[in-house]
Amino acid sequence: MSKAWNYGAGPSMLPVEVMEKAQAEFLDFNNTGIGIVEMSHRSKEYDAVANHARDTLRKIMNIPDNYRILFEQGGGRGQFAAIPLNLLEEDGFADYFVTGHWSRCAFNECNDKYGKALLHECVEKDDKGQYFINYDKMQVTEGASYAYACLNETVNGIEINNIPDTKGVPLIVDMSSNILTRDIDVSKFGAIIFGAQKNVAPAGLTITIVREDLLGKARKYCPSVLDWSTLDKYDSMYNTPNTFSWYMAGLAFDWIESIGGVSELEKRNIAKANLLYDYVDSSDFYICPIKRSDRSRVNCVFTLKDESLNQAFLEMASQKHLVGLKGHKVLGGMRASIYNAMPIEGVQVLVDFLKQFESANK
Ligand SMILES: *Cc1c(COP(=O)(O)O)cnc(C)c1O
Repeated sequence: MSKAWNYGAGPSMLPVEVMEKAQAEFLDFNNTGIGIVEMSHRSKEYDAVANHARDTLRKIMNIPDNYRILFEQGGGRGQFAAIPLNLLEEDGFADYFVTGHWSRCAFNECNDKYGKALLHECVEKDDKGQYFINYDKMQVTEGASYAYACLNETVNGIEINNIPDTKGVPLIVDMSSNILTRDIDVSKFGAIIFGAQKNVAPAGLTITIVREDLLGKARKYCPSVLDWSTLDKYDSMYNTPNTFSWYMAGLAFDWIESIGGVSELEKRNIAKANLLYDYVDSSDFYICPIKRSDRSRVNCVFTLKDESLNQAFLEMASQKHLVGLKGHKVLGGMRASIYNAMPIEGVQVLVDFLKQFESANK
């Protein structure tokens, strides 16, 4: 087997230890004689798997007792609807801090369908042509039901490092692509949502971490499968969950614990991002369009100065088994996603490739 280096944004690379464990027990889980994907979600064996994953996540993220952890389906997009359906009063309004593609999608979902969303454009361009976050724009409006932000814009490569002070208004955040990549203080948030496929597990699982006092406010017509209170009441087994992805998430959480937890991953992610960005900044062949302090540690967006070389770049990358480097279709350019599972060796391989392509085409 020739293994490729996978810089895809999601579904994306998983830790090899997690993949191997899942493979080893795929046909016979824990001496039950059946595979995990063949097992009832209501069996006592599966119940233990589900609880273990939830408890381990609580431990590695230090989630306080007054927060519930829900395992859902429907993805980030599903939660873009679930958030207003659970939190926005019919005649209320919410503040949306837009920093890129995904927060704009969340804004539109709310504003087009469920109620008033106030748009705060928080990204601007400086005189060097680089994008940066204008944190002064992240101001809550008095009386807002909640404020919304996407802490890491997977497409744009922009990450929020300073959590805005929302003066008591619940701050709801999308952490689909940077969950578990850095230490965060969960108590600062009303709710955290994330799709698992970017940094945790296979696609088809979405997790919501929500403060207890925000439950029970859903609109009457909120679909039950998106109603956080219903999911909570049934321990996320109101309907059949994605049992396989939930199990894989549990393996990933165990892996994180085994290597020293989220703070260890944060250290590694800073080192990885610096390795890549230092090289991009030192070269005049590649450009990163974002101000250094606002760049994502895990979705590194860059362009070739001469965009006519894009195709040649991707072809040469693919010959060398470097996959997933093409930027998102709305932005173009290149993007290297270097999530938790990517070891620093994989970033070094990429930097070596960037150098090689540069000297061959200068
Ligand atoms: C991928 C992504 C989404 C959309 O997730 P789906 O599961 O495809 O709905 C939302 N937010 C962020 C930050 C993402 O990276």
